[in-house]
Amino acid sequence: MKFKTLFVITSILFGSSVNAGWSSGGGELLRDTRNPWFLSNTDTVKYCVKVDQPNFSLSEQQILNKVARAFEYWKREFTFANRIDYTGFDSRLATQDFVLSDCDSADIKFQFGYLEEEQFEYLKNPKKFVGVAVRTSYDRVHLRGKGFIYVSPDRGPLKPDFQYMNEGIWSTFDGNLLKLAVIHELGHVFGISHDTSSLVMAEDFLQSVLGWFGHQGKSKHAESSMELNYFRSAAENQVSDLGFCVMPQPAQDVQMPVIASKSAALIAKRFFGIPTSVDNLMCVYFEFKGGKLRVYYGESSEGSSSSVDVTKLSLAGQMQLGNRLKGIVSLGSTISVYVNEAQKVIPAHMISSDQVYLAYKSSNYVYKGAYVAEGSGKRRPLAVTVTSDGIQSLTGVLDGQLYVDLPSGE
Ligand SMILES: [Zn+2]
Repeated sequence: MKFKTLFVITSILFGSSVNAGWSSGGGELLRDTRNPWFLSNTDTVKYCVKVDQPNFSLSEQQILNKVARAFEYWKREFTFANRIDYTGFDSRLATQDFVLSDCDSADIKFQFGYLEEEQFEYLKNPKKFVGVAVRTSYDRVHLRGKGFIYVSPDRGPLKPDFQYMNEGIWSTFDGNLLKLAVIHELGHVFGISHDTSSLVMAEDFLQSVLGWFGHQGKSKHAESSMELNYFRSAAENQVSDLGFCVMPQPAQDVQMPVIASKSAALIAKRFFGIPTSVDNLMCVYFEFKGGKLRVYYGESSEGSSSSVDVTKLSLAGQMQLGNRLKGIVSLGSTISVYVNEAQKVIPAHMISSDQVYLAYKSSNYVYKGAYVAEGSGKRRPLAVTVTSDGIQSLTGVLDGQLYVDLPSGE
């Protein structure tokens, strides 16, 4: 990631004596503070939403929608990841019913620009955060947590000073930046620590997102544009379909990264059957969904306003669909649950130490088939390697020659 951490999202917060049981996001020293807030014994989780509407550019209804989508994201994420069972204990993360309720009985309070006095004191300087998840109590018998997720407002005195935290930023991109913020914080609720190998659970994820979106139209740097499109894809829930570069939205003005070289462009054109009338092929975007590969391509002129021509080609032929695709977090890291003698959730015989590891792993899948270009009807052998981060490689045969990485022409 290009942008350095300019300020912390979820830093180590040491509770004052007033709220000694509180803990937040990443990096605590206390043993069970990273436990998932809910395990298999919890069927229903209540949540509420509070918004400081004058200082928040999205309406409560829009926010409720984004929160619901963030829950869906994690449900899907955990469903698609392979669970590696060390214990025989059915951890069932994010399988609960998440039910909207009043804040008095809520397990998770989502607070958008809104803080109670004691929360304010605990965070000390809320302007340091784009978002933060704070667990305020933990039931050590039933291994069940309660707490709040705070997301900073995009107007008013509590708006962070971070350079890309522009006024009204939450309402840009259909409010999907906010969804990404909630996704990150919910990841902590489900017990995931910061993880540099992951996109959404990287420590600087939120400011990276803000940075790249805030940078839009200003940067002529291909790499940041690529990242922007990556995040845009994520924001639009095309998380399983991430390609290498250009966005699938022809209406938007975006600087597109150039394809690796002229010769690579030529190979891509021929392989994918991109019309020869496309003189200035700048970018090829691949979407892979349900075993089907779609190729979009774009032509770009000089300057910051690019015209993008998007054409759809389809992949025909038989694909081996071994597994479903997964989202953008790489659940390679282990989620640990510290247990104690009083707990009644994890059977004693499954516990060899005071810690139980719940591992969710995503892996590579190779899909094989033949690419049939529209128009010419030529069939070309193609293998698509996919991980949780999207397409990893496209390997194909063109005129008897094997290309290990088609987009780079190698
Ligand atoms: Zn975090």
